[in-house]
Amino acid sequence: MPQHTNPKHEQTLKAGALLCPVCCVEYVEIEVDFELDGQILRDVKVLRCPICQDEQFTPQQQKAIEEQLRRKIEP
Ligand SMILES: [Zn+2]
Repeated sequence: MPQHTNPKHEQTLKAGALLCPVCCVEYVEIEVDFELDGQILRDVKVLRCPICQDEQFTPQQQKAIEEQLRRKIEP
């Protein structure tokens, strides 16, 4: 049985759009209050699937969260 490895086989998505793998719909960006390690972060941007409510952070959003946390922890 031949093995096909095709590195170009990737999903092509709209720029900035992330699809929920379960529902095949685009995540929408929302702002939430986010609690992490007892710290409340306000207006954190997160991508949420409108159907299954799955949440995903983009790398930029993760970075923003880390920066907010750092500012809260360091006086
Ligand atoms: Zn979904």
